[in-house]
Amino acid sequence: MPSPPPVPDALPPAVDVAICGGGVAGLGLACALSALPRPAAAPPLSILVLERRAQAGGIHRGDSLLPRATRHLLGWGLGPGLLAAGARPIDAVRVHARGRQLLEGPVVPPGEDAPYYVLPHAEIERLLEARARAAGVRLVRRVGARGLLRGPGGRVEGVEVVGPDGVACPVRARLVVGADGQRSRVREALGLEVDVHDYDHALLSLEADRPADYRDGLEVHLHRDGGVLLLPRPPRADGSARVSVGVLVEAGQAALWHGLDDEALARAVAGRCPRLARAALDRQGMHVYALSRRHARAYVRDGAAILGDAAHVTSPVAGQGMTAALDDAGALAALVGPALLADRADGAPAALDRALAAWEGRQRPRTARLLRQAHALDRVYGARGPLAYRLQVAAAWLVGTPLGGWFGRGLARALLTERDPLPAPGPATAPPVEPAAPAAPPARAVARAHTQVQEVRAA
Ligand SMILES: Cc1cc2nc3c(=O)[nH]c(=O)nc-3n(C[C@H](O)[C@H](O)[C@H](O)COP(=O)(O)OP(=O)(O)OC[C@H]3O[C@@H](n4cnc5c(N)ncnc54)[C@H](O)[C@@H]3O)c2cc1C
Repeated sequence: MPSPPPVPDALPPAVDVAICGGGVAGLGLACALSALPRPAAAPPLSILVLERRAQAGGIHRGDSLLPRATRHLLGWGLGPGLLAAGARPIDAVRVHARGRQLLEGPVVPPGEDAPYYVLPHAEIERLLEARARAAGVRLVRRVGARGLLRGPGGRVEGVEVVGPDGVACPVRARLVVGADGQRSRVREALGLEVDVHDYDHALLSLEADRPADYRDGLEVHLHRDGGVLLLPRPPRADGSARVSVGVLVEAGQAALWHGLDDEALARAVAGRCPRLARAALDRQGMHVYALSRRHARAYVRDGAAILGDAAHVTSPVAGQGMTAALDDAGALAALVGPALLADRADGAPAALDRALAAWEGRQRPRTARLLRQAHALDRVYGARGPLAYRLQVAAAWLVGTPLGGWFGRGLARALLTERDPLPAPGPATAPPVEPAAPAAPPARAVARAHTQVQEVRAA
């Protein structure tokens, strides 16, 4: 029988949890698991994150951290890091059409105490990575999960990892989690089917100099060919500042947009968003994203799980992707973590399987609801043409009335706030000890974030 290939030094032969994919979902899960309280005598879970990219960032993803997402990040102790990295609090949404402001209102509904932040995605990943590493998580980069190791009865017992040299190494794990994005290998290896709906519009994303009269907030510029969203970027080292620009464009026209020269691009963008008429565009990193809605029919099979974009993808119009990914991660740690901590000696998977089923039973319907709400919002904002534009303007006007305002607050509450929080996870068998890198309790962390947000606004 041929001997198995040597395991490179970077890869442990066996761990408690192997997470395939080190984006927001995978790193979030690593942070959440390592922040769990554990029985006094129990060693921490050994957690391995496998990531193909050489470093954080480098893929364009979302920047908006809605209150339901920041609540998790604050709970894992990332609050000070978020602000130090330049996160901007977003309070207001302003809707414009033809250069005139139609509506201004609070974006975070009353009663929500966690903030809405924007921060470049690469910074969010860096913060999660630093937090996970500080808590003892092993993150190995430039390796890919290629296949799953299976035991008797087909149960997943580990992952086959391929390094840059193409050599495959087995890593055994009590739990394998696929956090490897929308083209998930793990999902494919588990045979989980996905329902897909492709949108007829796409998102052109680039940056522009920050207009002099722009105030931090979410600016929506309605246009009959597709609206424009503006969000602040953190101040740069040279004192200059930028805004991120998201233009809703027809699907399948990426080559056309990339082919425009600077002048034509500036004209096309300013035609939809007059505020940018005098702002220089930065097309470095400019990208046109095809948009789709996807939902896996199951999140768990054969003792393994998928989460984040591997399990569900939503239109970015509602800014829900990271929220859903971090929500998956927080709930998986809270519901499955205690079973992982308790059952180490005999490795009996029954408790783990029950916990995984409970997690899937909670998360999948929640996410299905969120996907429906985000889809409905996309149907309104993503519609183009003169009639759709008039309806959008009318909707903005309606939200400015008392009845429409009530409806708008209801929608914001549905999308932004937590209605069904998880109970704090308790220790599996014995009184808790402080985790290796203690995370601030969410309530205190949220209160502290409030004070810091006031300071950022005052600055
Ligand atoms: C244009 C755009 C704007 C968006 N705006 C927002 C927003 O404002 N707010 C919001 O909340 N969401 C937004 N989203 C969605 C959000 O960014 C994603 O839902 C979220 O980042 C998903 O995180 P993830 O970790 O599940 O997936 P990913 O970020 O895709 O991470 C998956 C990781 O797995 C790695 N990987 C893949 N295959 C393997 C393998 N075989 N082995 C090892 N590693 C592997 C990849 O390199 C990657 O790092 C936006 C998305 C887009 C495209």
